[in-house]
Amino acid sequence: MLKKERYQLLVEYFSKHQPDAETELHYSNPYELLVAVILSAQCTDKRINQVTPALFKRFPTPEDLAAADADEIFTYIRSVSYPNNKSKHLAGMGKMLVEQFNSQVPSDLNELQKLPGVGRKTANVIASVVYNAPAMAVDTHVFRVSNRIGLTTNARTPLAVEKQLIEFLPKETIAMAHHWLILHGRYICLARRPKCEICPLTHFCKYYQSGKAALVFSKTAKVAKKKTAKASIAKKVKVAKTDVVGDVKVTFVN
Ligand code: SF4
Repeated sequence: MLKKERYQLLVEYFSKHQPDAETELHYSNPYELLVAVILSAQCTDKRINQVTPALFKRFPTPEDLAAADADEIFTYIRSVSYPNNKSKHLAGMGKMLVEQFNSQVPSDLNELQKLPGVGRKTANVIASVVYNAPAMAVDTHVFRVSNRIGLTTNARTPLAVEKQLIEFLPKETIAMAHHWLILHGRYICLARRPKCEICPLTHFCKYYQSGKAALVFSKTAKVAKKKTAKASIAKKVKVAKTDVVGDVKVTFVN
């Protein structure tokens, strides 16, 4: 199958079944989304959604964040990954937003990337979600799913994946396709064991068509079988080590 056809089938499927896909981060304005996306690096959206209500209440505007010090911000985000670095980034980001961008979240990718804690991926998320720009943020899910389906060829870096997706996706679908691929990777095309048995994309997925999925499935089944067998042997051993000494039943544990 040609790569072009894969893209066509992908867009057809998701346009019909997930026309309103969106980020799972909770936010009510561009500033809050920027804070949430910075926090979400190497962390789950679920965890971020647990800490942001209190954080947004204490720092509702860029000015409030700009006036805060990193130590105070830390107390609100201590349960997310890398809280030390992220506190410093948020404090710096607040100051820069106020001093250089008139407290407005910029739309330009280069300007966004000047903000502390904002790399290419975060800048692309803001550009596409807030400004509906044809920007593709490539995280681990987008990277994996694109490669598996066969949307990319020899793309070994996030930037290479981004470029290929942007080249082949219809411009008006790029911002939305980011959510399609993330959600598909998060809930169906899982990293270790993709759920191909319930995936609606098997008819054009390169990975599935290559038979690799069946291989992973059979390996997983074998590992599970081995584990069950080991558990049953361990149980028998434990039973065997249970003995009666005098009138007292004693279990000998290694
Ligand atoms: S068929 Fe399997 S490998 Fe392909 S996208 Fe679906 S879950 Fe992922």
